[in-house]
Amino acid sequence: MKKNNKCHLCDCEDINLTSYKLRDNDKISVLQCKNCGLYFLSTFEHINKNFYENGNMHSCENLKNDFKHWENKSYNDDLRRFKFLKNKIKNKSVCDFGCGIGGFIKLCSNITGDVCGVEKQKNLKEYFKENNIIVYDDINKKQGKFDYITMFHVLEHIKNPNDLILNLISKLKKDGELIIEVPNCDDALLSLYKNKAFADFTHWSCHLFMYNHKTLKLLMDTLNLKINYIKNIQRYTLMNHLYWIINNKPGGHIIWEKFDFKLLNYLYSVFLKLLNKNDTIIISVSKTNMVS
Ligand SMILES: [Zn+2]
Repeated sequence: MKKNNKCHLCDCEDINLTSYKLRDNDKISVLQCKNCGLYFLSTFEHINKNFYENGNMHSCENLKNDFKHWENKSYNDDLRRFKFLKNKIKNKSVCDFGCGIGGFIKLCSNITGDVCGVEKQKNLKEYFKENNIIVYDDINKKQGKFDYITMFHVLEHIKNPNDLILNLISKLKKDGELIIEVPNCDDALLSLYKNKAFADFTHWSCHLFMYNHKTLKLLMDTLNLKINYIKNIQRYTLMNHLYWIINNKPGGHIIWEKFDFKLLNYLYSVFLKLLNKNDTIIISVSKTNMVS
């Protein structure tokens, strides 16, 4: 099995073996570059050619075939992203790369007639047809360029992020934006509370890279892209975090929902965002004059 022995971002060969364990594979370890801080897995060989076509990237087996369950599970995130972007994408051309079940596309189709997705998972084809969602299995099959390309929780799964980002950038119109959302590896549960149960739960073999503010910015700088903004998001609530800390289990935001007060959550999320220890990052990038 081919091992990763240098940092993909800064080429540094000084790599730390972290104490993080993967929840689904004890043969692969989590490494961290001592220079730039990028986290990455010790090998990517387990992601073979048909991995994404067969829907193997799901953390939960139900999602692979139960599309109703998938729709429901992703709806809140689809809606949050749609609300965040709707003023910009109205009547614009939009492509959601790695669109999964296509919930974000469905919402966008209410405000623009020019929206499509890219998704490799083969058993979704019929679903897309039934739901009138235009989805390609390869972005290169789509003619023309986009105003907006979105990519939600995909980049961390990609072996060659540089190649993918540059390809997506080449599909944008002159002032187009590529909007990327990733989980933040500086999540408070990891970096502030150092909750071992959460660490062992969150790290898994499909997250080949784990980004934070610094490494995401460095990646875009390396590719000579213009950063329009970086935005911090907190998806999970205070009760979710307290439940992890006390019970070492997920689901606290549901189990302790009655204690989940809006104002308290808001203040907690502001606190985490100020520290860059929130759970999710959105970055928007565009071409500079140097990139054709
Ligand atoms: Zn590095």
